[in-house]
Amino acid sequence: MQLTSVERIETLNHGIRKDREKRMCNCIQEMISEITEKGFENVEAPIELLSGRLYLEFTGNKKGQKKKRTIPVLLSKCPICGEEYENHD
Ligand SMILES: [Zn+2]
Repeated sequence: MQLTSVERIETLNHGIRKDREKRMCNCIQEMISEITEKGFENVEAPIELLSGRLYLEFTGNKKGQKKKRTIPVLLSKCPICGEEYENHD
């Protein structure tokens, strides 16, 4: 199985990630539980594991290139409860 870059980051920063997750609101975990209750398994949310923030995936191609790419955009707030994510920079 080929690792995605996000999974690689998770492996490298496992300790840091655990610490950072504590600072997030619980909305995504609750959402995952709700989806799980509907009969799904291995539910994964679009969370950037390094910062614990949610991201949206846009797609587009660079000028002059035909290949479409995914552009992950980190959200500054939780889209469910509106709580601002802490800036870890
Ligand atoms: Zn929230």
